[in-house]
Amino acid sequence: MADKTYDIAIVGAGFSGPILAANIAEKGVKQGTGDRLRIALVEAGPHMEGTHRPGYGAPVRRRRITNLVGGDPAFHWDDGGARVVGGSSLHWQASAFLPYPIDYVHWQEETGVDWTPDKLRPGVEETRREFNVHEYPEEENTRGNRLFNEVATRMGYQTFRQQGARRNCIYCGFCAGAHMCRYDARSSTLGYVDKALKLGVDILAGTEVERVLIEPTGKRGVASGLICRNAESTYAIPADHIIMACGFRKTPLLLMRSGYGPPEWGGNPITVVNPNIGKHIDGHPRIPGISAIFDEALGDGLVGSVRGYFIIHDDRPDGLGRLLLRADLGGGAYPQTTALNRFAPEFGQAHKDWMKNKGILRTGSLNPSMAKAKGRWSFDPRGNLVYSGDHSMVVRRAREGLEIAHGILTEMGAREITSKDIPARINSATRGSHLVGSCRAGTDPGTSVVNPYFESHDVDNLYICDASVIPRVTTGNTGTPQAAVTVFGAARIVERHFQR
Ligand SMILES: Cc1cc2nc3c(=O)[nH]c(=O)nc-3n(C[C@H](O)[C@H](O)[C@H](O)COP(=O)(O)OP(=O)(O)OC[C@H]3O[C@@H](n4cnc5c(N)ncnc54)[C@H](O)[C@@H]3O)c2cc1C
Repeated sequence: MADKTYDIAIVGAGFSGPILAANIAEKGVKQGTGDRLRIALVEAGPHMEGTHRPGYGAPVRRRRITNLVGGDPAFHWDDGGARVVGGSSLHWQASAFLPYPIDYVHWQEETGVDWTPDKLRPGVEETRREFNVHEYPEEENTRGNRLFNEVATRMGYQTFRQQGARRNCIYCGFCAGAHMCRYDARSSTLGYVDKALKLGVDILAGTEVERVLIEPTGKRGVASGLICRNAESTYAIPADHIIMACGFRKTPLLLMRSGYGPPEWGGNPITVVNPNIGKHIDGHPRIPGISAIFDEALGDGLVGSVRGYFIIHDDRPDGLGRLLLRADLGGGAYPQTTALNRFAPEFGQAHKDWMKNKGILRTGSLNPSMAKAKGRWSFDPRGNLVYSGDHSMVVRRAREGLEIAHGILTEMGAREITSKDIPARINSATRGSHLVGSCRAGTDPGTSVVNPYFESHDVDNLYICDASVIPRVTTGNTGTPQAAVTVFGAARIVERHFQR
């Protein structure tokens, strides 16, 4: 048993947890007394301590620039994210696509949430400021990306400059391979971690939450604490309020393990039923990019990750089936990627010349992603992610996206372009990225898990505020939309529960 009872225990210190901890500690007080809140931020992974100084780094983190996939097992890729204080904000690519106007409409139409641009504006502004969201500097762009911009514009497509989230960054591009930045230049939630510590939040790192304590009261429940495990023991943390922030996968699975979920769940008995936990998951279906090789170099090898431009393509006013097509032309690459590139000669002198002359700099790709109308993932009774639904729009729009990409690359003068045929793996079993919505927010308890104020429909004193509450995937990557929603969520939770 922990020696302290907390007012709030936040589960997960990834993208959302530190924002919640810092903002609630700063603006919230105990109702009635006005006392400072006792907050625990509980994280399964380690805390690599050190003041956050973007562009300079901290000694412990400088030594651990590991790649997320197959890297340091202490905080490796954990089924959809990094297991460390800071979560995937330490390993993300920092591509910033704050919500577009149509994304708010999609959220509202999906589940009735009142999450309008006006209401989220403070969250968007804070995210812009804290994560230093800015357009990548034009001088860091590759020749290939500039050529893409010129040609696509001439062909009548509207292009946009890619935005990123970095501070004091030298744009070396090393982080593109899901490595940590040795200098903390990539924006992360570490600044919020520092702030939370200053405000007296206890960070319990290396502590896996095994179960949320939910006592059934009739058909409903009341959350009263956590069962946790660290290297030494398993113990309970009593807390008056629990906020779940362990991501789109771990949040629903942990709730199901705690007895809150759909009746068909195959693990522990479910004592509080909500059939929507682990369902309605939306994301971008994986559409392979289209690659090309040119006669002349598209880059000088100095810039690896600065994706210069992108196109948004809609074929209907409601933005369903929206395509986002990113240009990544002429960036540097690791030797092993260069050696195995699809345009690389297989063996012998030709391959040696390719490696010596950095043939990779003559190649690049255009990569589509898509927001779709239908087709959702859900967790089956064993916790596996399965896909179902009408997939026709995905196949049609993927085909159109690859046609557009092929047309632009042809017009750019590519010598050879990969096939624009839809590969067999774009089918109804397709995997997705940027998954959200596994405990979605909504007005109807029959089709959602939390209300628009992030409060569980069924369990008192339980809140969810991470990628799992977002009702539908946004136009681009979900990290900065997630941050904006979390700032908004923290303000709503304070407003309703932690004001004098
Ligand atoms: C490799 C990669 C690249 C990405 N690139 C981009 C990008 O360029 N742009 C962008 O906008 N988005 C990007 N994203 C997406 C973005 O990182 C996610 O949208 C965001 O991390 C989701 O935030 P979250 O708080 O829901 O979850 P997370 O950040 O995953 O945080 C969850 C935290 O909970 C902890 N946890 C889980 N279970 C438990 C438990 N039982 N007990 C205690 N702690 C637990 C985890 O260890 C983790 O630290 C990327 C993601 C990855 C993985």
